[in-house]
Amino acid sequence: MLSDAGDAPRYGVLGWPVGHSRSPAMMRAAGLERYQRLPVAPAVFAETVRALHGAGFRGANVTIPHKEAALALATTASDAAREIGAANTLSFADGEISAENTDAPGLIAALGGRPLGSALVLGAGGSARAAVWALQRAGADVAVWNRTRQRAEGLGARVVSAAIGADVLVNCTSVGLDRSSTPFKDLPLEADWLTNYTTVVDLVYRAGATMLIRAAAQRGIDTVDGLEILVRQGALSFTHWTGQAAPLTTMRTAAHDLGSEARCSPNPFH
Ligand code: NAP
Repeated sequence: MLSDAGDAPRYGVLGWPVGHSRSPAMMRAAGLERYQRLPVAPAVFAETVRALHGAGFRGANVTIPHKEAALALATTASDAAREIGAANTLSFADGEISAENTDAPGLIAALGGRPLGSALVLGAGGSARAAVWALQRAGADVAVWNRTRQRAEGLGARVVSAAIGADVLVNCTSVGLDRSSTPFKDLPLEADWLTNYTTVVDLVYRAGATMLIRAAAQRGIDTVDGLEILVRQGALSFTHWTGQAAPLTTMRTAAHDLGSEARCSPNPFH
């Protein structure tokens, strides 16, 4: 634990909705004992964030749909956050709101030393922008497919209208998050096509693994699931705020422990 004091710095995750987030369990296990969910509607996002420092918050993670708004209201931002156009990590000190993006380096950390010569990114939302930026800086030749092609054209990568083979496939769409969408219906993929990738990454996470991850694993393909991405971006946020190395194994165990979710208060002010 970083502190035993009841007045330990506060942290949280801002989202709408945010009830599904594993970040509270993971960050509390890491030692940020006063880390909590912060369900905040878009209409009150800016005023809420500006009030957080006064309420004892030192930092906050940011998730759907606030990552672009978080960057916009920050008083300072890292080059990565600015170039990606989104922030998932805010820090509060001396009246300043600083924006960082740990989604991008978190993806590269989760990929470890795997071959990154080429990549196909599916999606063109906030997480796809971070993935394209990160993979290009890691030296990959990146192609992007998106359901709405026009949106993919702003990402600075080659836009494709069908799946192409690559070292890495990264699903940055929300397909697979619930039963309303499935990868082999909504994405330009057949399950057997997955053998055209060395590694399959799915940013979406759900209990028991997503259909995409299961299909890849069944075909003997190396996989990285959304929980590992969550752990890696969270570990980088933790280090950013505390200056300490993150307890990766502890965070990974907590992120995978569904039971721990029930012990995290959904009330932002508890
Ligand atoms: P976003 O900005 O809302 O973008 C959503 C993307 O999904 C868009 O490209 C959208 O395509 C596509 N999409 C949605 N429904 C689709 C469907 N039925 N068929 C095909 N494409 C569909 O979301 P985001 O912030 O990029 O996040 C995407 C996913 O990654 C979410 O599920 C999020 O939970 C997950 N994520 C996980 C982590 C992690 O740490 N593991 C981090 C960030 C995000 P259109 O442009 O055509 O609408």
